[in-house]
Amino acid sequence: MYSSVPPMPELPEVETVMRGLQHRLQGRTISRAVLHRADLRFPFPPGLAKRLTGARIIGFRRRAKYILMRLAGGHSLLIHLGMSGRMLLGPAHPNAPVLHEHMVLETDDGWRVGFIDPRRFGAVDLVPTETEDAHRLLIGLGPEPLEKTFDPAVLGASLANRRTPLKAALLDQRTIAGLGNIYVCEALFRARLSPRRLACTVTGPRVERLVAAIKLTLGEAIAAGGSSLRDYVQPGGELGYFQHAWKVYGRPGQPCERCPGQPACPGVRRITQSGRSTFYCPRTQR
Ligand SMILES: [Zn+2]
Repeated sequence: MYSSVPPMPELPEVETVMRGLQHRLQGRTISRAVLHRADLRFPFPPGLAKRLTGARIIGFRRRAKYILMRLAGGHSLLIHLGMSGRMLLGPAHPNAPVLHEHMVLETDDGWRVGFIDPRRFGAVDLVPTETEDAHRLLIGLGPEPLEKTFDPAVLGASLANRRTPLKAALLDQRTIAGLGNIYVCEALFRARLSPRRLACTVTGPRVERLVAAIKLTLGEAIAAGGSSLRDYVQPGGELGYFQHAWKVYGRPGQPCERCPGQPACPGVRRITQSGRSTFYCPRTQR
């Protein structure tokens, strides 16, 4: 039921996909761009294929779960993988249709990258590089959790007036950008904080623990992607993603790593919060 591959890309998966794109595409020129439909979650910008063709790719940036592919000429291609988006890399050759492939970029050195998204919650847009952060999908986002500016003071101030469960506050992208269901569960386990605790009660040492746990959980997942994939590409050509060993996510009833031998250990508990599954250790997360 809970596979080891995340059902939805979160920050570490997007970072890993971006590094794969960067490794293969940076400095290359898009020799051909093909769109197989007019929209994903939103319509593609007018003339997108034509505007991409001939453009040189000069850099990459990730903001939350968005990839920004920066093009010479001052625009960035914004890519959101949505719920089911994947990037497939392979040598360019004709007559190679792939199911649910909506956008294809071919490069001057003979590679092709396809954007595959069966559920079509993904998004693609063009935005002036200078004003990337003003894009309507980015403008309301909270701080990047891996940046130095995300610290206990920032998170503490953001949680101070929130009378919602801590998990809901952390899933709110205005509090912190890029966290989703899985990494929130894992970070709360590490921080020994209950997902049910009122957000506004997370102060002092608790908020320090939580910030450290979020950074460690995300950092480890990104490092795992880097060490388990060659150039961030899977053997089948898929960019990013990798096997994870979750500590609590998807492990209902099992003792967590802190609990073996504890007679009072009830095992990892699964509850539903805001319609999503939460996994936590009721003995050690308070
Ligand atoms: Zn436990």
